[in-house]
Amino acid sequence: MVPGNKSNLSRNLAKDKGKLFVISGPSGAGKGTLISQVLKELPDIKVSVSATTRKIRKGEVPGESYHFLTDHEFDQKIRDDEFLEWAKVHSSRYGTLKKWVRDLLEKGKNLILELDVQGALSVKEKIPSSILIFILPPSDSELIKRLQKRETEDKGEINLRLKTAQNELKLQDIYDYKIINDDLDRAKNELISIMRSRINEE
Ligand code: 5GP
Repeated sequence: MVPGNKSNLSRNLAKDKGKLFVISGPSGAGKGTLISQVLKELPDIKVSVSATTRKIRKGEVPGESYHFLTDHEFDQKIRDDEFLEWAKVHSSRYGTLKKWVRDLLEKGKNLILELDVQGALSVKEKIPSSILIFILPPSDSELIKRLQKRETEDKGEINLRLKTAQNELKLQDIYDYKIINDDLDRAKNELISIMRSRINEE
């Protein structure tokens, strides 16, 4: 593939049978929990493992949660045109590996990418058939509460995530679907029903 040649990439991906779902939403909206619930009911769906320069958190497994890279390694992947998209989110960089997406879509697999809004916009531009879903917290105060409860970030990082959340919420209208995560079971059922209907359509 010619580096940066978008039309080639869209052409290659356009004839694929698999569906590409992009799920976004502010930190603390509950994307991760919802996705793991979806996987229990739709086990054939694959979730992309992104590359990131962020530090590993307690409980995360390299190669499963993320591919944890140094800045130098991430730069090299950009130079080698290995990313479908990448973006700076909060204070680190995150990127989706192009080969993984292309290979699985070509095999007819349905995929989930969990991306920030910049990544979602970029994927929609390159793969117009992708389906964008935004997960919303029930309220600002609930979002703050959930972020503080997670204890995975320090105060500075929580404030940065809240600021990013405000910017992400402004862009929610570009998404095909919006789901309010007020109740985990209800939100999970809504997400599964959207995904099932899109997977089953011609
Ligand atoms: P976290 O540090 O909490 O794991 O993720 C922070 C944010 O980065 C989340 O909003 C997540 O959706 C986003 N993110 C994770 N992987 C990627 C990626 O490959 N590309 C983009 N653009 N965003 C990502």
